[in-house]
Parts: sequence; C-alpha cells; structure tokens
Amino acid sequence: MSVGRTGAYDKHYRWYGSGVTSDTEIDPDETTADTEPTGSAPEDLDLGGVVARSRAGSSFSLDDHDPRDTFGWDKEAAKARVLSEIAVVAELQKLLFAERKQALLVVLQAMDAAGKDGVLRTVLTGLNPAGVHVTSFGVPSEEELAHDFLWRVHRQTPAKGQIGVFNRSHYEDVLVVRVKGLAPAKVWKKRYDHIAAFERTLVDDGTAVVKLYLNVSNEKQRERLQDRVDSPDERWKFRRGDLEDRKLWPDYMAAYTEAIRRTDADHAPWYVVPADRKWVRNLVVARILRHELEQLDPKFPPPEPGIAGTIVE
Ligand code: ADP
Repeated sequence: MSVGRTGAYDKHYRWYGSGVTSDTEIDPDETTADTEPTGSAPEDLDLGGVVARSRAGSSFSLDDHDPRDTFGWDKEAAKARVLSEIAVVAELQKLLFAERKQALLVVLQAMDAAGKDGVLRTVLTGLNPAGVHVTSFGVPSEEELAHDFLWRVHRQTPAKGQIGVFNRSHYEDVLVVRVKGLAPAKVWKKRYDHIAAFERTLVDDGTAVVKLYLNVSNEKQRERLQDRVDSPDERWKFRRGDLEDRKLWPDYMAAYTEAIRRTDADHAPWYVVPADRKWVRNLVVARILRHELEQLDPKFPPPEPGIAGTIVE
C-alpha cells in the first residue's frame, strides 16, 4: 500500500496496516442506544439491496438518505460480515492486480469526522498493499494552484491493476472552494462539466470510478468533534478550522447536493453511505467495493503456452 499526500503542507500520516479486525474502532456512542436486536448469523444479513439503496442518482436529495440507517442489520452480525466481504474484495483485487488491464478509483468525500480515515483503516487494510495507492488531497500548494484544478489529481489516478483511493479529491474544487469563495462562481460552476468529462476519460480508458459520500449527521459530527477535544488521544486530530466548516454546514450540504446530482452517472456512480454508525458504514463500503469489482470481472491472465505440467527442478 502506498500512501501519498498532495497539498501545501505535509501531515503525519500513519498507516495501520497490520491486518483486518472488525473492532479497530470503539465508538462510545454506539453502545446501548445503537444496539440492534441480536441473533442473526452474519450470512443471514440481507445485503442484496444495499448497493441500489445507497445509489445517489441525478435527483439525489439528502432527505432520502438517513445517516443513522442500519438497513435492518444486526450490529454483531454486521461486524463479522464485514470481514467476509473484505475477504471477497481481496480475492477480486488479486485478480485485478494479476490481470493488469483495468483499475478502480475510489473517491472518498465527507464532512469532518464522518469517518474517511476509519474506512481506510478498517476496509482497505485487508487488501494487498502492493495494489493500493491512497492519496490525501489537502489545501493546494502554490505549484498546484498555478495549474488547472485537475493537474494534481490526474497524476494520482491508479495504474492498470491498481486500486486508487482519493481521501478528498477534485470534488473539493466545487465544495470548499464554492462554500468559502476561494474562486469566483464563474470558475467553479464550469467545473461540474470538467469533472464529468475527466471521469468519463478515466472510465473510457479502463479505470472504473466509484464515489462515496460518507453521510454523517450534524449532531453526530458535533459529538465526534467534542470527543476529539475531550480525549487526549484524539485531540491531535482537531483543527479550529473544523469549527468554521461546521458553521457552514447548510452551505456544504447544498454544495454536496449539487455536486452529486451533476456528476452522478451510471459509469461513475455516487453512493451515499450512512455514516453515523461505523459498523454500518464499513459494511456498506465493503459491499459497494465488492459490487464495483464484480462489475469489472477481472480474470487471471492466461499462462504462457505449455506451462501446465512443467516440472520445476
Ligand atoms: P482531512 O480533514 O481530510 O482529514 P486535513 O485535516 O489535512 O485532512 O484537511 C485537508 C483540508 O484541505 C480540508 O480542510 C480541505 O477542505 C482542504 N482542501 C482540500 N482540497 C482543497 C482545495 N482544492 N482547495 C482548498 N482547500 C482544499
């Protein structure tokens, strides 16, 4: 797994890649209030409709997606099931890597404390590190600002055989840039079409694109930011800027809504992942990744002729 960061400053970035566990994150607010009835075996969870239900669509509205959704799942069963879903994703990744004809780009977008880092830690740790490249996009550097907004993004797209993950992305250029007025409206308004064309280029060239919006509620974000302030282990994650962004919540929601509506496409779909419960978020993300890789249907390349039966001495 390679991990990169692009932007004006470098942030210490740790990779917790030592195996998959469903319990990597203990969320104090997922105790009694969030406990679902127990009893279903992991394999009995109905995951069938989750991909379709999470799909945003061009008439997307946040009102249609509940951040606290559980899809009727049982918490313990879901935590076990995420491991088996990740194992399937890992098998598919193995084929993608061997085939080297297609790539998958996963775009992760969310408000602060929605769990982008948690998804990276929990869902992607099960994959072969040689085939995953994670890029975090921060405030653009001077050099990046001196180029078009897609310049820094395009050079980080995955090579054939690879899964590329964008921790934030080109969408910031129609989100934070719009909300904070970092560019004139006439500049960012044209970017929806540029983004759609860019993603179409990637898809036409063999890179599947899937975009995930981790949908955290305003109240859950407040709780998690407060936890960051209150916990000595978490305080390093807290930035004053998070509070400024929080005040602009309605503007961000409007910006996300327009961005998702205007760039959702069957070839580059947006999924809205319920993110108030980490165990739901992880299972939905794993399931969507599995679905996208199954669509690619990667296959081992044929061996050189005459290899079968060769005796290695
Ligand atoms: P994260 O919040 O993703 O964990 P950071 O705390 O380093 O990571 O924040 C990255 C910051 O970079 C975010 O505030 C984000 O809005 C900002 N950013 C990313 N892309 C751009 C952009 N194109 N223009 C301005 N700001 C951006």
